Amino acid sequence: MSFLDEFRHHTWEQMGERIYTKREQDVMRALHKQGRRDLDDFCALISPAADPHLEEMAQLSFRLTRKRFGNTTQLYIPLYLSNECHNICTYCGFSVDNKLERLTLDRDRLLQEVEEIKAQGFKHILLVTGEAMRKVGVDYLAQVLDWIRPHFASITMEVQALEQADYERLIGRGLNSVLIYQETYNSHTYNSYHPKGRKSNMAYRLETPDRLGRAGIHRIGIAALLGLEDWRVDSGFVALHLGYLERRYWRTRYSISLPRLRPAAGCQPPNVIVSDRNFVQLICAYRIYNENVEISLSTRESPAFRDHLLKLGITSMSAGSKTEPGGYTVSDEALEQFEVNDARTPAQVAAMIRSRGFDPVWKDWDIVLE
Ligand code: SF4
Repeated sequence: MSFLDEFRHHTWEQMGERIYTKREQDVMRALHKQGRRDLDDFCALISPAADPHLEEMAQLSFRLTRKRFGNTTQLYIPLYLSNECHNICTYCGFSVDNKLERLTLDRDRLLQEVEEIKAQGFKHILLVTGEAMRKVGVDYLAQVLDWIRPHFASITMEVQALEQADYERLIGRGLNSVLIYQETYNSHTYNSYHPKGRKSNMAYRLETPDRLGRAGIHRIGIAALLGLEDWRVDSGFVALHLGYLERRYWRTRYSISLPRLRPAAGCQPPNVIVSDRNFVQLICAYRIYNENVEISLSTRESPAFRDHLLKLGITSMSAGSKTEPGGYTVSDEALEQFEVNDARTPAQVAAMIRSRGFDPVWKDWDIVLE
């Protein structure tokens, strides 16, 4: 049994109909429901019928987030280990068909990056690579964990989809959480965005969070890439996936991200425009649907918008991000995955968080507390 079995009971068209047929009374029922909300409530909250109720959604999302998470926002930073990749993903700067210089950090270069990052105060780190099994396979990732484990309170990876045994090995070396984004749940178009490489196996990717759950990972992050397909329908599937995972792997924590497609050299522009208003609606809908899920915001968004979103349901933010390997010691835009939109320093982001009455949290978890 895996999510694939549940996924096969839901077509893209049915999910769309489930969302677009919602009316005002469905939205009001979802907003005023006592107790846990279900997928139909989520569909109502992301439907066009909910748009006039955005203010009420924002107020409820704010209250639920403060009740569960307090006035805190966790800060983390991505560390790109490599931009090697053997896949073609039409939206990504690391795609194998893009002519850019490729770089994989060795131990010395990696530890230089680590020193830069630690000097900025970070205790939570997100390790990112492309998908090149020979250069940045499981052996390399295990070695990286050995090198950096003493320096950080928690380590997250956003790397290629792996086998359960690989995850177990990495968890044993200190890996705490994994982000694995489906990008789109539209099986009609998935392969048009992923025409080459292991990522073109949609079923394998859909089952990856199951392998993580069985491996006993502490936290799993899921998402759809906003800008490929209808964001409402893709988000309906993310909510379906989240509900499935929480029921099945109930010891694991979950997070949702909202990556909105950003310009990258040699890549396609967004197919679908997700407006700022849509984006706010989606954050609020996730929070009202699930009071416990962590919601993460990256530097893909602009400073003013990130400042505004802080109060609406977000629980963690990246800051000071570089999206190229080695970027914290020698910045080279020619190597980057995408352009960041918020170039403020971590100290500036932390000051903004404090100025809005929140506490920036550099460390809220440690392996010894598990
Ligand atoms: S999204 Fe990941 S797998 Fe696809 S090209 Fe970029 S780095 Fe490679």
